[in-house]
Amino acid sequence: MIVHLKDNISEQESLKIAEKLKAIVVRGKNNKLLVASSKMKALPEEVAEFVEESFVLSSDIQLASRDYMPETREIKIGKNYIGGSHNNTMVIGGPCSVESEEQITSAAELLKELNISTLRGGCFKPRTSPYTFQGLGMEGLRLLGEMRDKYDLNIITEVKDATHVDAVIEHSDIIQIGAKAMYDHGILKKCGETDKPVLLKRGFGTTLQEFVQAAEFILSGGNDNVILCERGIRTFETKTRFTLDLCGVSFLKEYTNLPVILDPSHAMGYAYGVPDLARACTAMGVDGLLIEVHPDPSVAKSDADQQLNYEEFRDLYKSLSAIAKAIGRTII
Ligand code: PEP
Ligand code: MN
Repeated sequence: MIVHLKDNISEQESLKIAEKLKAIVVRGKNNKLLVASSKMKALPEEVAEFVEESFVLSSDIQLASRDYMPETREIKIGKNYIGGSHNNTMVIGGPCSVESEEQITSAAELLKELNISTLRGGCFKPRTSPYTFQGLGMEGLRLLGEMRDKYDLNIITEVKDATHVDAVIEHSDIIQIGAKAMYDHGILKKCGETDKPVLLKRGFGTTLQEFVQAAEFILSGGNDNVILCERGIRTFETKTRFTLDLCGVSFLKEYTNLPVILDPSHAMGYAYGVPDLARACTAMGVDGLLIEVHPDPSVAKSDADQQLNYEEFRDLYKSLSAIAKAIGRTII
C-alpha cells in the first residue's frame, strides 16, 4: 500500500505512522510518502486521519505500477529526456568494454557523426571467467569522463559492486546495473540514495515480477529515475546466446510506469541478428536501445561476437530513424 500523508504531518508523526504500517518512508519526499506491503489492503483506522490518499496495489509492484502513476515517468539524462510525453528512442551505442583512449574516442566520434546522444562502455566488467579481461576500472571511467566533456555525450557505464557507485556517478549520466548485479542489494540500496538515472538490467533467470521488484528497491530508496532494460533471458535454446523476451517488454509497457530500453546485442550474442532485432524493438515503441559497436569487433576484449562494426552500425541507424519516424518517435 502506498500512502500519501497530509501536508501538515511532522517528521516525527510520519515516522510513527510508518512504524505502525511497517512501511518505508521514501527519501526526499518530505516524509510524506510511505510504502507498506501490498498485503495491506485497508488503512488501520488510527492512521486514517493523517492520510491524504492511499493506493492499494495487487502486488509489490507498487511505485512502478501504472495503477499508482499512470504515465510513463519522465527521466532527464544530461540534456535529453525519455519517457513522459517525449516519444524519444534513446540509442545507447559503444563498445562492450572501454579498452583504450583510441578505441573509445573513435566510438564517441561515430556517435557524434550520427547525432546519437549516449555512449556506453564497461569499465568494471562482470565476466563469467576470472581469466578474461576484467575492464580498465578507474582509468576507463576517466576516459569516459573525457569523452563526455569533449564530445558532449551522455555516458552510461556499469557498476559491479556498491563501492563503484560514487565514482560512476561522478563520471557518467546513467548508472548501469548489469544482469548479474540485479540482485545485489548493496548496489540497489546505494542507487536508491542518489537521483542519478539508473538502467536496471533484467537478470537472465529473473521473472518479470522479480525484475520490477528489484526496481522497487531503488524507487523506495527515493530515486525516481529508474529505467528497465530487457537483455534476454535463458531458455532451452542454445543457438542464440539468450532469448529476447518481447512478450515481457509488452508486459512492462502495459503495467509499469518505467521507461523500457532493449538490448538486442546481449540477447542475440551474434552481430548478424542484432540489426533485425533492433528494428523490431524500435517498432515496438520502446524508450531506447542498447547496441554494442566496436571499431574492430574481431579484436574486442569482451563480447566480440555480438558487436557491430561501424558500417553495420551506420546502416542500422538509417533504418532505425525511418522506423521511429513512422511510429511518431525520434531517435536521439
Ligand atoms: C554489458 O552491458 O556489457 C553487460 C555485461 O550486460 P549484461 O549485464 O546484460 O550481461
Ligand atoms: Mn557486453
